Amino acid sequence: MANVQSSNLGYPRLGEKREWKKALENYWNNKISEEQLLSETKELRLHALKKQQDKGIDLIPVGDFSFYDHILDTSITFGIVPKRFAYDGGKVPIDTYFEIARGKDDAVASEMTKWFNTNYHYIVPELEGAKPQLTENRALFYYEEAKQELGIDGKPVLVGPITYLKLAKGNADFKGLLDQLVPLYGQVLKELQDAGATWVQIDEPYLATSFDKSELALFEEVYANFAKVAPDLKIELQTYFESLDYFEDVVKLPVAAIGVDFVHDHGESIEALERFGFPADKVLAAGVIDGRNVWRADLDAKLALLERIAKVVPKERLIVQPSSSLLHVPVTKLSEPDLDGVLLGGLSFADEKLVELVALAKALNGEDVKAVFADAKAGLDAINGSHHRNNAEVQEAIRNLENVEVKRDLPFAERIKLQHEWLQLPLLPTTTIGSFPQSPEVRKKRSDWLKKVITDAEYEKFIEEETERWIRIQEDLDLDVLVHGEFERTDMVEYFGQKLDGFQATKFGWVQSYGSRAVRPPLVYGDVAFTEAITVKESVYAQSLTDRPVKGMLTAPVTIINWSFVRDDVPDYVVANQVGLALRKEVEALEAAGIRVIQVDEPALREGLPLKRSRWQKYLDDAVYSFKLTTTSVKNDTQIHTHMCYAEFEDIIDTISALDADVISIETSRSHGEIIETFEKVGYDKEIGLGVYDIHSPRVPTTGEIQDNIRRALKVIDARQFWVNPDCGLKTRKEKETVAALRDMVNATKEIREEYKVTK
Ligand code: GLN
Ligand code: ZN
Repeated sequence: MANVQSSNLGYPRLGEKREWKKALENYWNNKISEEQLLSETKELRLHALKKQQDKGIDLIPVGDFSFYDHILDTSITFGIVPKRFAYDGGKVPIDTYFEIARGKDDAVASEMTKWFNTNYHYIVPELEGAKPQLTENRALFYYEEAKQELGIDGKPVLVGPITYLKLAKGNADFKGLLDQLVPLYGQVLKELQDAGATWVQIDEPYLATSFDKSELALFEEVYANFAKVAPDLKIELQTYFESLDYFEDVVKLPVAAIGVDFVHDHGESIEALERFGFPADKVLAAGVIDGRNVWRADLDAKLALLERIAKVVPKERLIVQPSSSLLHVPVTKLSEPDLDGVLLGGLSFADEKLVELVALAKALNGEDVKAVFADAKAGLDAINGSHHRNNAEVQEAIRNLENVEVKRDLPFAERIKLQHEWLQLPLLPTTTIGSFPQSPEVRKKRSDWLKKVITDAEYEKFIEEETERWIRIQEDLDLDVLVHGEFERTDMVEYFGQKLDGFQATKFGWVQSYGSRAVRPPLVYGDVAFTEAITVKESVYAQSLTDRPVKGMLTAPVTIINWSFVRDDVPDYVVANQVGLALRKEVEALEAAGIRVIQVDEPALREGLPLKRSRWQKYLDDAVYSFKLTTTSVKNDTQIHTHMCYAEFEDIIDTISALDADVISIETSRSHGEIIETFEKVGYDKEIGLGVYDIHSPRVPTTGEIQDNIRRALKVIDARQFWVNPDCGLKTRKEKETVAALRDMVNATKEIREEYKVTK
């Protein structure tokens, strides 16, 4: 009998109210014992499993739970612990595990970096000197726990060996290490098989990136080996986040099932399936519910897609699942009772997605799920038909975009002269990136104000005092272009979300960013519109205190979009353009109020790059367009700055230049060499500030170090183009170290100016 199964690929770790985070942090702060940590997290884990069971998911993932990160879990499973941490084989103690992630005394933490194109960060494995051994079978442990406690025949989740090694660093001999890992994986699989496991999910998202076709042979070899070692265990080879470049080859790999993303695939997976067909001996696990966004699925459309799939793959060999792990979405919308009903009706967090999956599987199996489908349709019709998504003025403006000038009046070479004329800055002007320390006092006042312990007026007065204090500090330091300090903002996206139409904050919409750290992305649920000035008051106030120029400070469209949950009924670039048009009004309002240097930050531009290079150009062109929508309506002598927090910009330097910002500041100090090489190779004609010290550490740099950085940059960049600034905003630093570091920075600059025989 045809029977489609429902499956899940991973469940959020955080807990409905971030209980997981609290347990971890209590343990780190010695407030609870290891035993308590284990028992509290076990309870959370079982609760999450039980929910999936109760909702009727057939294949429930186990071992997707982690105390920090699944890549770090994989490392310690194989005893891959960097030398600087005390470890001499055997099961890695939990404290060592946390030390690798968080550092201890002199042993710095392992690096972390983004998990593909998500905002989740994993701990980068360090393979130097690695001698893999199997230290424990985590998958088996969690499999048995779920079976004993809840009677679940779970689907253990592993990160596949090829993806694991691809994400690691310090590996001189890829194949050599892979050959060492494969038998260890084999043992894990064999033990799972012996314990009675039916399925195992092995994640190889590397397959959804662009890579050389010859590498498929590695997969062929590894998975053939697994099939031999554990012939009775069904392996689901799981891919996600993109379509497969080599669909017809990947589906032939020697495994029982292939998991394919039918959401973040640009429509390519269904095309490939219809074109190439699907092997008759395999199961297709179709990821049709979006694992990375929070909107309710159009179940009718999803069912139609699944029916199309079922024309190629018979239903008895079809699994319905999310496009990826649900790690990337909040737990349940039931935690948001205060949200507008129409908006709530359009949302679907992890728990609600499970219901969607089960309904789709049932529908395919001919069961009656009309009520679920009708409810979904009513919810979606309500939000799509609401005024939130039908702002006539905004939509008219988007239709008329071609009539909007997205070009500065004069070319850079000419307008910069007009800017220099009034700015009268010294050679190598000094500035900062925007934020100053969010001290405990700043945070306390904000929370008092939010709790209504202090009045609006009291809070505003405090913000003004803090701004004035820092204007004086900046004058005293003799910085050239000042900032107001961003004391009114906790977060550079949230702040704009609160003031623009079409955004909504949530209470418990947390998602894991790294370790116990979670973020709460705003929902961009409707047409985005400018309603009131956002930053003008603070900027004008700061400017009124000083004769030196104060930069206005905004967050640019692509960063706002990349750090939000954006509606999925229109393309992202449309939303970016709506944000661009709204911010254009803010830029104009700042300029009209006398702010003549305006910085529009785009720190997330690079991290949002599509996984596949073939999609980069479209993404970058759209990004440039929305940035220019925001920034190009100003007068020639208004100076536009932008900032980006990453150093690897060689492959997007053309985009950076195309933004046509007068000045850009870029994080540099941790990778000076590469940057200099980039500038040796490609020219850059506008003004630029390469960060001259790292702001990620409390350490105060010496003037000598700063001078070395400046001098090296000046070998490849003309001194008349060069600005001196730290790597990024200073909000996470303490006041004392901030002032000391900036003093060194200004002094270092002054000495170099002397060498150039140019003074103020
Ligand atoms: N202006 C912001 C700040 O200084 C920029 C932050 C960022 O680049 N992430 O905090
Ligand atoms: Zn930055």
